[in-house]
Amino acid sequence: MPENAPILLWMRRDFRLADHPALAKAAALGRPVVPVFVLDEVAETYGAAPKWRLEAAIRHFAAELEKIGSRLILRRGGAQEVLLALAAEIGASQVLWTRAYDPDAIARDTRVKAALKQAGYAAESLPGHLMFEPWDVAPKQGNYFKVYSAFWRAVKERPVADLSAKATQLTAPKQWPHSDDLAGWQLSRAMNQGAAVLAKYAVVGEAAAQARLDQFIDTAIDTYKEARDFPDRPATSGLSENLAWGEISPARLWFAGQRALEAGAKGAEHFLKEVVWREFAYHLVYHTPRITSQNWRGEWDGFGWSEAEDAAVRRWQQGRTGVPLVDAAMREMYVTGTMHNRGRMIVASYLTKHMLTHWRIGQKWFEDCLIDWDPAANAMGWQWVAGSGPDAAPYFRVFNPQLQAKKFDADSRYVSRFVAELVDTPAREALDFYAACPRSWGLTPKDDYPDPVVGIDEGRKRALAAYENR
Ligand SMILES: Cc1cc2nc3c(=O)[nH]c(=O)nc-3n(C[C@H](O)[C@H](O)[C@H](O)COP(=O)(O)OP(=O)(O)OC[C@H]3O[C@@H](n4cnc5c(N)ncnc54)[C@H](O)[C@@H]3O)c2cc1C
Repeated sequence: MPENAPILLWMRRDFRLADHPALAKAAALGRPVVPVFVLDEVAETYGAAPKWRLEAAIRHFAAELEKIGSRLILRRGGAQEVLLALAAEIGASQVLWTRAYDPDAIARDTRVKAALKQAGYAAESLPGHLMFEPWDVAPKQGNYFKVYSAFWRAVKERPVADLSAKATQLTAPKQWPHSDDLAGWQLSRAMNQGAAVLAKYAVVGEAAAQARLDQFIDTAIDTYKEARDFPDRPATSGLSENLAWGEISPARLWFAGQRALEAGAKGAEHFLKEVVWREFAYHLVYHTPRITSQNWRGEWDGFGWSEAEDAAVRRWQQGRTGVPLVDAAMREMYVTGTMHNRGRMIVASYLTKHMLTHWRIGQKWFEDCLIDWDPAANAMGWQWVAGSGPDAAPYFRVFNPQLQAKKFDADSRYVSRFVAELVDTPAREALDFYAACPRSWGLTPKDDYPDPVVGIDEGRKRALAAYENR
């Protein structure tokens, strides 16, 4: 290979110019760099909202690359075939990318790496998606952590790789290869009219993510510990959306949190702990990939969760369970593409416990609706609530949505913001729900508010009886 052979930089869920070891390495080598995104076998399986958000991330990142004299080449097809063909076409000698840890991505990347190496290319995956590689953190006994608190103790003092400055230049090749047209991929198609609604709420790109972090540190980290459970308060960072697409690195959150801790911010340690929950989720997914599709605890396999996508499940999906806090949270997700963490726990508990429906049904719906969809956090979150996961909530913890509302939405501001039927003058978000949801659902703000799918006490009793008799 000629000394100046181009480098292929394979972008996946890492759309940023700073803190990006693969991009930094490509830039430092001083050779031409061809960044490419492949709409491959893994990306093709993303749900409707993640695909919409992927399109937004690509569009934004491609424009950022142009500003530093580069481009994002778009290709569609099997990752292995596309990368082999593109590497040959541009005369590349090397392919670099950021490592991923979920089972589908690992299977793809293992295939791709072997094929590239066999064809004579240098192929290397680098860190950046996590702060702690899952194989680097191990307990004294056993090869991985099953309990979050022990994981936290093991990582809290560990050094985290330094941040790197934003790349300001990437050498362009003499001639750019052909790129598909992003619009032609129609990544927003499945969202229908919901796409325009999501666009009002999404916060896209590296600069916006950094601004979000700065604002959180300036205004909210101090009170984070007490305020983070109230769904109507702007008390959390909102950065899951940007982390999911790699528009900001977890290390950047970590260092900002550490600085705030040193400056005496009261909520800083709690924030760092939450950032480590994301690491823990990936630790689990890496060591026990079955967590994404099967009960992590095999003893739950015989439990009688229903897997039918019946009328009750449809009401849950549509935010029409008749339980205001559950419905507000489900509509928050439909409108904004994200849901407050407390809402996620409450709706997951209502589905898996009150409705005795399999967590996989909820996991799949979230996968279709969340713009911060993350394969590890979603799987861990669902199994944590259902009780079938590692370090899970005990089976007898059945969230009572009425008590939760009293505690965390006492003035009903959250419910009023999202549930039009319960107020005289619906808020913008409540009306956006009708603009976003499919016409086939036939919903209007004037509908009567329904009776509960399952009564709170009745559902709790039924769930406890089922859980105790498993
Ligand atoms: C059923 C269920 C499903 C979930 N699905 C997802 C998902 O698909 N994508 C996702 O990013 N998170 C998911 N979570 C975790 C959590 O709800 C979100 O990370 C959080 O609401 C994001 O808001 P934020 O960025 O304002 O968080 P902040 O409170 O500002 O926290 C900072 C960061 O810490 C991480 N974090 C916080 N809480 C958790 C947690 N419980 N688990 C893992 N990481 C956490 C996130 O990366 C978050 O951005 C799920 C939780 C549950 C219970």
